[in-house]
Amino acid sequence: MKLIFGVIAFLITSIHAYADNDLGMPDTLKQGGYYVGKINPKDKVTFHGKRVKVSEDGYFVIGLGWKYKSQANIRVDHMAGGHTMYHIPVKEHDYDVEEISGLPSKYVAPPKAVQERIAKDAADVRRVRTIDSDLQNFRDDMIWPVKGRISGRFGNHRILNGEPRSPHTGLDIAPGQGALIVAPLGGKVTLVSDQYLTGNTMVIDHGHGISSVYAHMEKAIAKEGQMVAKGDPIGTVGMSGRATGPHLHWGMNWYGERLNAGIALGIE
Ligand SMILES: [Zn+2]
Repeated sequence: MKLIFGVIAFLITSIHAYADNDLGMPDTLKQGGYYVGKINPKDKVTFHGKRVKVSEDGYFVIGLGWKYKSQANIRVDHMAGGHTMYHIPVKEHDYDVEEISGLPSKYVAPPKAVQERIAKDAADVRRVRTIDSDLQNFRDDMIWPVKGRISGRFGNHRILNGEPRSPHTGLDIAPGQGALIVAPLGGKVTLVSDQYLTGNTMVIDHGHGISSVYAHMEKAIAKEGQMVAKGDPIGTVGMSGRATGPHLHWGMNWYGERLNAGIALGIE
């Protein structure tokens, strides 16, 4: 009997393995996730009609937006000629509605005088999110930047003081004022700035368009231009900018695409 179960289990695993793609990606992807694939370094990858950067040893990464459609289509053009299409199903995520009230009105409807500053702040972050470096820290397994109560999830529809707003672009962690934030992945600090809405803000580049954002910090520890290793202290938790209490707003990006920081750590 045991043997029969063993054989059945073996067959199921084999079928599963066969159904998996040879890119090394899971056979189902998640909205808001990012996925590393490996190909022959001489092959070319196209995703959404755009060439994707491939490292010298054949690694590449793609990111899926929060409302990404049902299937990711990845095209690999082989150096030897011909191409392979990968159609990988994408699991839909059920986002919640999150109501936040009691925010000072100067943050919900910023006065005209600060709108220019908000636009400049946003442009600074947008600019560093386009950085397309050869760093490969994105291949590493992530650790928590700080542990604490999850006070806001990625992609939730937000209602601020009764007004509907765009979805939440990060994962909020609330361990308390002053808690140490560490780099969840190694990389290069590409921005440290004091912003109107997001307060003391930092962006770290992890390579191939994968970057992370840390907002509302009490203070930044790592400096702009600094290389950080996974686990290095980068700042402390605070409530600078538009925040109702001390928390870290942690965001991940693949270039301009906002990702769900928690997916790689099993929090969605
Ligand atoms: Zn947040």
